[in-house]
Amino acid sequence: MFDSHHAERFRSIKTPFFYYSLNLLERTLEEVSKHGISKGYHVHYAIKANNNDRILERVKAAGLGIDCVSGKEIEKALSAGFTPEQIAFAGVGKTDEEIQYGLDSDIFSFNCESIQEIEVLNEIAENAGKVANVSVRLNPNVEAKTHKYITTGLNENKFGVNPEKLTILFEKLPALNAINLTGIHFHIGSQITELQPFIDLAKKVNAIQDFFEDHDIQLNHVNVGGGYGINYEQPDGEPIPDFEAFFNVFDKHLKIRDGQQVHFELGRSIVGQCGSLISKVLFIKEGITTNFAVLDAGMTELIRPALYQAAHSVDVLTSSMPEKKYDVVGPICESSDTFRTGIDLPEIKRGDLVAIRSAGAYGQVMSSDFNLRERAKTVYSDEI
Ligand SMILES: *Cc1c(COP(=O)(O)O)cnc(C)c1O
Repeated sequence: MFDSHHAERFRSIKTPFFYYSLNLLERTLEEVSKHGISKGYHVHYAIKANNNDRILERVKAAGLGIDCVSGKEIEKALSAGFTPEQIAFAGVGKTDEEIQYGLDSDIFSFNCESIQEIEVLNEIAENAGKVANVSVRLNPNVEAKTHKYITTGLNENKFGVNPEKLTILFEKLPALNAINLTGIHFHIGSQITELQPFIDLAKKVNAIQDFFEDHDIQLNHVNVGGGYGINYEQPDGEPIPDFEAFFNVFDKHLKIRDGQQVHFELGRSIVGQCGSLISKVLFIKEGITTNFAVLDAGMTELIRPALYQAAHSVDVLTSSMPEKKYDVVGPICESSDTFRTGIDLPEIKRGDLVAIRSAGAYGQVMSSDFNLRERAKTVYSDEI
């Protein structure tokens, strides 16, 4: 992704900063469009992955909707020009104010995560004289084969309703006058790189649909969530996830009823690879078995290594010397503030620039000002 032109231009920009390739984002969205939207699928972009204005602008132009997990995200999506009908609102802990805001905005769907939430939504909607479209989030109990912190579809997870509790919901439904149960929703986890969990999900959805039909409930839409992963090891080898294979899983395995819509909520797979965290090397410290490259970026900019033991690929942009072994670390007073340990990189000197790759999703949005650090700036490819 990077050449000498980038290294040259980056030298004049204050580090650390997030760099986004709009060209790669564009090409990624084209694949989503070609293999997903063209099949009639409704694809919502999970705005929590990255909410930068120019990224939202491209996502909107490509015809995607938005998946929100907070009232502020709904506000952001609306101000970015998405229509209320394009907005789904998920989240295990929606406040009354957020629910009210979603109702006032007439959003497409509330993805509800518990029976109590549906009852509260009914009450707030009734008082507002509205009817809320609800998708109930169900736990398909599918093993997502990813990090435990980003597995969400198992029985013992805080997210979603256990399908065994559905009959309780069915009994309550006739009295919930302000609830229009329009769909079912699933999201089994994140950074799922194998297709099998999605095949398992599609089959579970089929069985759950049968169960709804047995209870004479017709659903307008099925939302299978997101979670498709990216290649963190080889961002240049696989800059765009294989969306053809992903959407084909659902095309092949999901049984759709007449007139039923299928919705997706993709975050990481859309924006993950287009972003990099660019940082300057402050110091080199020679250790006994490794060398430490201390960067001016740390867990405050990119918390994924500390939070999920994620390994991001590191490019040294300004050295082509023979390789040496490095631990690449940040400046924060936490031992977990380490990007990589024991990796071979071209010899690094103070002042060299590095790119921490695949930082477009859950990077900048999760940054903090811990240690009173300044927020990293945003730089787009067409600005340099
Ligand atoms: C986070 C989230 C997504 C997006 O997940 P990705 O792994 O980024 O695709 C989709 N749906 C829900 C409900 C989420 O919480």
